[in-house]
Amino acid sequence: MKKITLLVLSLLLGIFAIAQVTQKPVIGISSTWGEGTSASVPVTYIESVIKAGGVPMVLPISHDPAILECMLERIDGLIMTGGEDIDPLKWFGEEPIPALGRVVPERDSFDIALIRLAVEKKIPVLGICRGHQLMNVAFGGTLYQDIPSQVKGSNIKHRQSAPSNYGTHTINILEGSVLHKQTGKTTLVVNSFHHQAVKDIAPGFIATAHSLDGVIEAIEKKGTDRVFGVQFHPEGFTSTNNEVFLGVFKDLVKKSRAYRESKH
Ligand code: MN
Repeated sequence: MKKITLLVLSLLLGIFAIAQVTQKPVIGISSTWGEGTSASVPVTYIESVIKAGGVPMVLPISHDPAILECMLERIDGLIMTGGEDIDPLKWFGEEPIPALGRVVPERDSFDIALIRLAVEKKIPVLGICRGHQLMNVAFGGTLYQDIPSQVKGSNIKHRQSAPSNYGTHTINILEGSVLHKQTGKTTLVVNSFHHQAVKDIAPGFIATAHSLDGVIEAIEKKGTDRVFGVQFHPEGFTSTNNEVFLGVFKDLVKKSRAYRESKH
């Protein structure tokens, strides 16, 4: 008799545990195209989503529109990750300068289609580094292809040699912006691993943070609080359990949960 009671109890507990997990919002994470032979993301993105209460799902590059549509049906939130430079000629009509880095055409076209459709479907989107620049380009903005050669007067090192869980330059954050609400800060020291930056901001978007040399370090879409990008890498601080940077992911997960509930 005791054995049966225990069995029923553990079954109930198991169902409860599964129910808890299935209620968690699924956060899609865009991946890199390793020369066409792999689809991968740094584990820090995965860990950040888990720590923030979401379920991470890596999204491989696919040029089949039906597959893309199915991926979007299954996610409740989206992270556009860091990575390679964006092709300036194809996506914002500028000839490439000598300092342009590696460009991956397959990733560019998948990422642009993914973010445009996600925003259209009102899926919450966080862009990080390349993902933040891509957000700007996908909606009509432009980039500096290389900060040292194109941003006059910039004397700040945006490609730090320090570890990713260590902030190296200051940013000022617009009061009342999404990033301000996520971090509770109007000034923050962030990590920095980029040589490109947002130049002309996309119509319908605003810059919400700048480094002291004027480089744009965060953007968001006007009229909504669920489309936002940061130039720094909040996931780089995950191992330190830094609550300020984890706040960015917690906010994404919170908005993704609301999106998930609105679907059902
Ligand atoms: Mn920077």
